[in-house]
Amino acid sequence: MQPLLLSKSRLNTYCQCPEKFRLTYVEKIIPDKTPIPLIEGSALHHIVENCLVYGKKVPDLAAEVSREFWQNHHWQKTAYPDEFAFQKAQENILQEATDFVEKIGELKTHEMETYFEHPLVHPVSGEVDESIVLRGYADIIDTDPNGMTRVIDIKTTARTPNTEQANRAMELTVYAYLVACTFGFHIELPVSLLYLVRAKQAKVVWLHSERRMPDFLKLHESIVSISHAIRQGLFWKNQGMHCTWCVHQDICFAGCMAA
Ligand code: SF4
Repeated sequence: MQPLLLSKSRLNTYCQCPEKFRLTYVEKIIPDKTPIPLIEGSALHHIVENCLVYGKKVPDLAAEVSREFWQNHHWQKTAYPDEFAFQKAQENILQEATDFVEKIGELKTHEMETYFEHPLVHPVSGEVDESIVLRGYADIIDTDPNGMTRVIDIKTTARTPNTEQANRAMELTVYAYLVACTFGFHIELPVSLLYLVRAKQAKVVWLHSERRMPDFLKLHESIVSISHAIRQGLFWKNQGMHCTWCVHQDICFAGCMAA
């Protein structure tokens, strides 16, 4: 049996809507045109992350990584109406990213996009389940103000986030769990969400939390349940507000009407 590959995106997608998981990861349906919020969020993410980690060493890094990012995209494969709008977006995003980097200030960063991969391990018994592999890229690893190694996940959003978000975010637990797979589940790992709020008054919001044994046990239990459901082919449409941002809404609702 092929191992089931899971990541924070796959787990979050399944929890939000199992049908979206099926369309994205089982059927591997890729939208014809990348939605604008998705491409702009990725561009901002890419520029800010690079500047925070390598900005001190490389002059004009923001402009360089911006060029590198956009040259991998063609405007006709995006939802921009024309090439002019596509070019304009590049200028705006570069400016926004530069402003965010300035607002964030200096961090003691070590690495960006650090790759982790590990078979599922029970945090107490140490039992390894080779049929499930958890993997992911941590956005940034730094030393926090208390001198502790910390994992940072960067988010772009249009609204100020809920202050409880860092305590609840499954993605932070996934990264901490993957670090614990190497260093032992006795660790208490600081984790932070760094929100780039793209509002009229752009701002940076930090939300801090930590992850420890009870979080690792809950995550292990959730992953086992989700894996069973995926293997049994349990995919249902969980309709809600999130459908507004779903790249599969056309085929999903067309299917509903046909049925
Ligand atoms: S449109 Fe809504 S119900 Fe359909 S796949 Fe996307 S999130 Fe799920």
